Parts: sequence; structure tokens; C-alpha cells
Amino acid sequence: MTDLIEVRGLEKSFGDQQVLQGVDFTAASGTVTVLLGPSGSGKTTVLRSLNVLEAPDAGLVRISDASIDFTAPPTEKAAYRQAIRALRARSGMVFQSHNLFPHRTVLGNLIEGPVQVQGRDVEEATASARALLDQVGLAGREDAYPSQLSGGQQQRVGIARALALKPEVLLLDEPTSALDPELVGEVLAVIRDLASENWTLMIVTHEVRFARDVADQVLFLDGGVVAERGGAEVLTDPREERTQRFLARVLDAG
Ligand code: ADP
Ligand code: MG
Repeated sequence: MTDLIEVRGLEKSFGDQQVLQGVDFTAASGTVTVLLGPSGSGKTTVLRSLNVLEAPDAGLVRISDASIDFTAPPTEKAAYRQAIRALRARSGMVFQSHNLFPHRTVLGNLIEGPVQVQGRDVEEATASARALLDQVGLAGREDAYPSQLSGGQQQRVGIARALALKPEVLLLDEPTSALDPELVGEVLAVIRDLASENWTLMIVTHEVRFARDVADQVLFLDGGVVAERGGAEVLTDPREERTQRFLARVLDAG
């Protein structure tokens, strides 16, 4: 199987702080990659680099057939912008809090991007949005406004909205960490469901037990690099001491 995602030598500094110092990984299509690491280790920066919300200083980012070598990006502005658009179109992003448009209904939130940005037919986008709402367990709520939904339901709409743009990869940045504890399970259940349907997922999460169940690949980020990598066994039987210490802290807190 050829890799759907390829990241090589990713570097990013903020001021004089070098957050990413050469991050490398690949991910195959239909797999779940869990990214974890201490606060401030650059997990969000990795996801934002994949979505080009952040422009890396160096390194290669490829998703499917779209790639940018940030070490030598296109010199022509128009070509660079086009490359960014192409790369961005291949991933969808789910944030800690959902960022739904408050004055649009659930359905309005789901079809806005497909219709306005992608120029898709309203009826097709609506039918596709309804199927996605069904998938996240919110069939029948299309006319609700975000404020009328619980935090867990809002986050499930956020996931459906990201999927409505038909990305090849879904990037989820601590999708449950802003939720009340009793709402976490319903969102994790939706993510599990996507994993079982062979979506390609890249998730930052501290829900270690959940991560053990769904992860095909685990990347532990520390000191600006992937300090340990492997399958789900990284979460049960880590080799590196810093991974062991981190997991002990997270499991203690949970
Ligand atoms: P994580 O998600 O692992 O907690 P982040 O990727 O959010 O880490 O951030 C890594 C480091 O980079 C942190 O020290 C953070 O303060 C810094 N950082 C992130 N984004 C910015 C930014 N836009 N400007 C300045 N510093 C930033
Ligand atoms: Mg973060």
C-alpha cells in the first residue's frame, strides 16, 4: 500500500523557539494515526502544517497527489497559492471546539463549504450532508441552530462539516478535550465509527484507552521530533523513558 500522507523533515520556529526540528512520518490510506506528546510539544503545529494553516519553515508535506516542499517552495506566488489550495483541499480539520457558524442551521453549516467554496450543487450537497448527519447520529437535527445542541452534538456536527468537504484525511485536534466528561463518549464513538469505515484519521488525543483501541500507528512527539513510534503497543508498552513518563502522567490524571 502506498502512503497517503508523507511528512519529511518538517521544521517550524516561532520567534527563536524551534518547535518542530525535523518531524518525519508516513500514514497509509485507511489507517488511524494517534499523535501524542506533552503540552507544547508541537502536536497542533503538525496538524496545522498538514492543513497549511501554518507554513512550515522546511520539509515536505504530501497528502495523496498534492505536495509542497517547504524547503524550496514554488517561487512564483500564484503557483505557491495554488499548491497550498490543493494540499488544503485534501484534509479536513476538527478543532477542540467546533467553530460552527452560530447563525446558520446545522444543515446550513454543512452545505456552506461544499456549495460556496467547492461550487457543488445545492441538492447534491444537501443529500450528502443528510447522510453525514445520519452517520454522526444527528439525523433529524438539520434545522437546529448550534446553540440548541449539546457540546457533544455540536462537536459531532463539526466532524460532519469537515467530512462534507470530502477530504482524504481527517485531522482531529483534541476533539473531546473541551467537552464535559459525560459527552466525551458519544464523540469518541463517532470517531471509532469513522475508523471502522476506513477513513484516514490523524488524531491528537489524551484519551489513551480510546487511542489504544483505534490506533494503527502511534507517534510520540517530544523535543521537536517523533521521539517514539510504533503501533498501539507504544501506548501499552513504550520503550522510551520519556514516553513512559508521559503516559504515566496522563493515565494518572484520567
Ligand atoms: P501542542 O499542541 O503540542 O500543545 P503547539 O503546536 O500548540 O503544541 O505549540 C508548540 C509551541 O509553539 C508552544 O510553545 C506554543 O506556545 C508555540 N506556538 C504555537 N503556535 C504559535 C504561534 N502562532 N505563535 C507563537 N508561538 C506559537
Ligand atoms: Mg495542541
